[in-house]
Amino acid sequence: MTLGSHISPLSRSYIEQADVVFLLVADGITEQWLQQMNADVRSLQPYYQTGVSRMLSYQQMVAAMLAEVQLNKKVVGAFYGHPGVFAWVPHNAIAQAKAEGFAAHMEPGISAEDCLIADLGIDPGTYGCQHFETSQFMFYKRTIDPAAYLILWQVGVAGDRSLAKRSTDGRYRQLLIEVLAEHYPLSHQVILYEAVTLPIQQPRITQLALAELVSAELDPKTTLVIPPASKMIVNQAILDKLAALQADDQ
Ligand code: SAM
Repeated sequence: MTLGSHISPLSRSYIEQADVVFLLVADGITEQWLQQMNADVRSLQPYYQTGVSRMLSYQQMVAAMLAEVQLNKKVVGAFYGHPGVFAWVPHNAIAQAKAEGFAAHMEPGISAEDCLIADLGIDPGTYGCQHFETSQFMFYKRTIDPAAYLILWQVGVAGDRSLAKRSTDGRYRQLLIEVLAEHYPLSHQVILYEAVTLPIQQPRITQLALAELVSAELDPKTTLVIPPASKMIVNQAILDKLAALQADDQ
């Protein structure tokens, strides 16, 4: 996620020893940094095309990586954050390589979630934590627990069914607010979070009322964090049964 610091020694070693490295990272400076580690580094960014479904770009990225695998080269895909978190290409590239009989595996990385836990000082274990891709959260009826944290990824393209937009506007976000308002008051304080990608930056931590989301400034890298709005409800029936078990054990 952050240039220079968020790379494991093992991931770095794989990058250095690969025959070819495919990159999908946060910015050009990070690309340049990774180019110093291997002589054959290829950016996957050009596969993104304005107005074209991201799914098509993703399929083309997987095909480009697999073409090198099929030549029996040692291929690394270096993706920002954790390559397995809200990321279609790494999972599918590995699955396809395995299906074709090649050895493939994923190395974990430091995701946006890891950074937000550190920067916001929250522990997902305190109240529990739910994660959804924002548009999927809107398209399907999900059961959420407002006593836990709710983290919505890709909020900048909330409600985009085309997968081709770089951002969606207030009309789309108004519908997201409508969904969230079933569980949270419009005055509920939420957080727009952006982890730093360059060490000289500061994280974005913008607190605002849920209703203000409609006109908030959002970036493709913004993650929406919704803190709990209600108290956890005690499950007395289970507590009673556990008390009976404990009495038996004594
Ligand atoms: N694999 C990435 C990870 O582990 O963080 C996530 C990739 S997902 C396609 C893109 C979404 O991740 C963004 O819309 C945003 O919700 C989140 N994200 C990416 N970069 C971020 C950053 N710098 N700060 C906060 N969230 C970020």
